[in-house]
Amino acid sequence: MSDTSTHDDRRAQRLLMVALAWLAAGLLAHLVAPAAAQGIMLAGLLLCSVPMLVVAVRSLAKGNVNVDLIASLAIITAIATNSPLPGLIIVIMQNGGEMLEQAARGRATDTVRALEQDVPRTAHRLSADGLSAEELDVAAIQPGDLLLLRPGELVPCDALVIEGRSHVNTARITGESTPKRVTTGAQLWSGMLNVEGALTLRATATAGESQYAQLVELVRFGQASKAPLQRLADRAAGWFTPLTLAACAVTWFVTRDMSRVLAVLVVATPCPLLLATPIAIMGGVDRAAGRRIVFRTGGALERLSSASAAVFDKTGTITIGEPRVDAVTSFGPFAGNDLLSMAAALEAQSSHALARSVVQHAKDLGLGIAKVTEVREHAGEGVEGTVGTHHISIGSMAFSGARATLAARPAMDHSELRAEIVVDGIHAGEIRFADQLRPEIPEVLGSLTALGLHRTLLLSGDAKDHTARIATLAGIADAHGELLPGQKVEWIETLQAEGERVLMVGDGVNDAPALVAASVGIAIAPRQGGLAANSADIVLLRDDLRSIPEAIRISRHTMRVARQCIGIGLGLSMGAMVFAAFGMLPALEGAILQEFIDVAVILNALRSRGAGGLSPRRAATSNAGGMPQPVLSH
Ligand code: ADP
Ligand code: MG
Repeated sequence: MSDTSTHDDRRAQRLLMVALAWLAAGLLAHLVAPAAAQGIMLAGLLLCSVPMLVVAVRSLAKGNVNVDLIASLAIITAIATNSPLPGLIIVIMQNGGEMLEQAARGRATDTVRALEQDVPRTAHRLSADGLSAEELDVAAIQPGDLLLLRPGELVPCDALVIEGRSHVNTARITGESTPKRVTTGAQLWSGMLNVEGALTLRATATAGESQYAQLVELVRFGQASKAPLQRLADRAAGWFTPLTLAACAVTWFVTRDMSRVLAVLVVATPCPLLLATPIAIMGGVDRAAGRRIVFRTGGALERLSSASAAVFDKTGTITIGEPRVDAVTSFGPFAGNDLLSMAAALEAQSSHALARSVVQHAKDLGLGIAKVTEVREHAGEGVEGTVGTHHISIGSMAFSGARATLAARPAMDHSELRAEIVVDGIHAGEIRFADQLRPEIPEVLGSLTALGLHRTLLLSGDAKDHTARIATLAGIADAHGELLPGQKVEWIETLQAEGERVLMVGDGVNDAPALVAASVGIAIAPRQGGLAANSADIVLLRDDLRSIPEAIRISRHTMRVARQCIGIGLGLSMGAMVFAAFGMLPALEGAILQEFIDVAVILNALRSRGAGGLSPRRAATSNAGGMPQPVLSH
């Protein structure tokens, strides 16, 4: 199949028009001057064939033996045997199919369009004295600007609440319409809707670098990457093309009848039919997007459909996003609040699920957050840095153990989620968190088993005892704790070596290497922004793991439709080839029959969109955070 630059798009359109015009001219001539009709159509075919053959030769030169080859041979044979009418029909079929695909592609970007329509456009900037506000384009916002946000307006860029209290919701992004209360100090993300009171904000990022812009990019990337979509079709073409050539050769040697060879080639031309695969896959991607599941590539959809094992990260994945701080304990010499203030200073620089909870807790207690320098984050282990004259670190047991060199660590119970604080080599304290299982976990694990994923693992960087406790609560037998990010990757590779197709669910920040290593990586875009999901193949915008079985069902349904399209299309073509070889299906009738097959198959492909596909309305009224909707099965 041709690549899909706009240049090619226009070429297909032009060729279709020209071929139709010559066909009409030929048929008209047939009525008034039958002798000239054949010549007119042949001239038209010659004209149209040149650009198509050029493309085919170029792609052949690159070593692509694809189905375009069959179409080109059919056209050449039509010219050689002076049968311009079936030749022209092939030109129409090829280019019409490409245009059909373009149309489908246009519709697949509904999701992007719906998101773009909702993008915040204007904001109100407050003057330095806070007394007057001017309207400005969001693009003009600079970090640090003071903004006024009225009720009913969208948060224009990522920002902190400086003054006021209100409720906001994230319905546009996550479909979650339950409002969240915000007051001074709360972090807001662009795209959130302010439902009530007026707020004064301080911009923390430009609009372009804010969450909403990143989200649109994320979705757009998925829609634009098209190459892997065609793998399935190309695999089929791999054997279908030689088969066709062999059928032609046999027909020629047995019958010495070029018109039969032409008929075989005409009914074998399956290009528009194979377009059904990308159409089906794009339909599935778009349908998932309507459910706030972002497939970033078509290939991800194909891989997800065959996943056989699921690996879960713990903190923020199996457990709720941001565990509340339960207790801060000091082992001396610092007072608890001083310790917390220092820890919060470090955590303010970290993107870990626990970090925001610590910062929030310090703020809730009204503590000032100290200044920190030389901050270093060790993904999946902890953070360290310098506060005043002290070197301080906060992180896992192993991480802190390696830094607490001066005193023996107190004996502790490790069955709770905790982060340990070390100051200047002394084990100075710990923060305990209320780590809770997500309520939907049992249902999700049940669905995965029902879908045939026969292994489920919990891999965590957290202490072994606590990991085991959460695993028991979740009902996962195979759990491993105290793993560094690299060791999670090793586990995944081991599973893959055993022949599993591994689905990894984690957070996009800490688990990036594991998400990349897995056959398919799923990241949850956390409730409060932090869309660092570039390493994931699939991003869940809803903070609800029931999206995972739902995504699998959509992917399987889509792949079933795609395979069915190829099977039916190629099957019918092969049947027709037999009739053509035996002289029972002339080229012209064959061309018309083939056209019908293609249209039928492409209509079938559109089924992958399911009932309705995405519309912003549907997304808005979908039961946010509620029960997953049933997926059509066929
Ligand atoms: P999981 O694999 O369970 O999601 P992570 O790999 O995210 O866990 O983190 C493992 C452990 O490392 C955490 O339980 C925590 O103790 C510690 N840790 C990592 N980063 C931080 C941080 N920024 N602040 C506090 N603790 C951290
Ligand atoms: Mg984690």
